[in-house]
Amino acid sequence: MTDRLIKAGCFLVVVAVITTPGCSPEELHRLLLVSFDGFRWDYLKRVPTPNFDALMEEGVRVQQVENTYITKTFPNHYTMVTGLHAESHGIVANEMYDPDLNLTFSMDRMDTYDPRWWDEGVPLWVTNQRAGHRSGAAMWPGSDVEIHQMYPTHYLPYNASVSFQDRVQKLIDWFTQERPINLGVLYWEEPDESGHRLGPDSPLMNEVIADIDGKLGFLLEQLKKAGIYDEVNLVVTSDHGMAQLSTDRIIELDKYVSSNLYTWIDKSPVVAILPKEGKYDEVYKALANANSSMTVYKKEDIPDHYHYKHNDRIMPIIIEAKEGWTIMQNKNGTFMLGNHGYDNTLPSMHPVFVARGPALRRGYSKASMHSVDLYPLMCHILAVPPAPNNGTLGSVRDLLKESAPPTAAPPTPARGESTYAPVLGSLLGAALVVGFLFVFVKQVTRKQLPSLPIGNLEIAQPLLQEEL
Ligand SMILES: [Zn+2]
Repeated sequence: MTDRLIKAGCFLVVVAVITTPGCSPEELHRLLLVSFDGFRWDYLKRVPTPNFDALMEEGVRVQQVENTYITKTFPNHYTMVTGLHAESHGIVANEMYDPDLNLTFSMDRMDTYDPRWWDEGVPLWVTNQRAGHRSGAAMWPGSDVEIHQMYPTHYLPYNASVSFQDRVQKLIDWFTQERPINLGVLYWEEPDESGHRLGPDSPLMNEVIADIDGKLGFLLEQLKKAGIYDEVNLVVTSDHGMAQLSTDRIIELDKYVSSNLYTWIDKSPVVAILPKEGKYDEVYKALANANSSMTVYKKEDIPDHYHYKHNDRIMPIIIEAKEGWTIMQNKNGTFMLGNHGYDNTLPSMHPVFVARGPALRRGYSKASMHSVDLYPLMCHILAVPPAPNNGTLGSVRDLLKESAPPTAAPPTPARGESTYAPVLGSLLGAALVVGFLFVFVKQVTRKQLPSLPIGNLEIAQPLLQEEL
């Protein structure tokens, strides 16, 4: 009787482990976040992209992701991994000045390694590691900086010459080594660089987009080869889109105000102006109504929906160019055919977003989301407690498999999965565990078991904790 009871109990516990999502072993909470810099959401319509298509078919796609203002690389990459708008995480631009620190930050000069720039936010890898897990980062902006006294468990120091293939290989190694990571972040510089140089409307961009699809294909292949394709939740996205510029749409500030009256902190299309001592009014008045293709904001008048006001690194005057316009001091500066940074509600500024994996629905398309919501979604997938953030898990919960209503995606034998199976599994698992423990405890209290099998207790205890 005792033996049979114990065997039945073990079987029920095993069933509960298999069928209860809350009890999933750690390897089921794996995530790889990939950013192809400047991959605009509608690039997918330009050329055949079989690898993006495969991900969308097997996973989820969000058509319009409203990223954070300003739509530049560093602010948006930090938003993705903190769930904070730029004013809250402090990386307000690619070029910044902090009046308290009296320091400048410039992506181009690579003086970005002082932790004080980054410490206003807590990146996902820090949260993940504080929860006892391991992370790996391949060139993600900020991932080679010591933030909150912590680096990712594994990371590559930024070096643009490291190939995409080598970055992928590192991540695969980290995911499959003896003490594997559960979180990986991967950054690639294209198609942003080509978008700036050629302009997004150029037919030459088609080849660049096809090449990125090929790189995604390489990543998928390597995940399959390593046997982790179906276990890793893969999110493929970007920081921003790209707008077509023209030499016919240039605003020259020197025509309106002397450059001796201010310091030019951040570049077009959202120019940050720091007026010289006592020159604020003069500079503002000279620029305010100077050109209808730009909007000049006093810091305190920046629209609330930009979430771009409450930080000392945001300069007293911000000039925002209208879509497709370039602001320069004069035409001696460098001109690009493509740029980003504009109003984050413009579709041209929106990034691609596709994702696939065990936690995500299959073949599901969502109209829109905010990029700040990605962070709580990733924390949920990783099963780590999120740091305070501006996102809302509820806004993107429908991307998760666990939320799929039975009617929205009826289970088909071909796909080999049921959308409500996890819920039923949870209930069944919980009922079996409770039932087994009830009988078990009853037997123990009746003293029908001479000694308590410690091994079984060890199996049962973590389950109970997980269930809570
Ligand atoms: Zn760029």
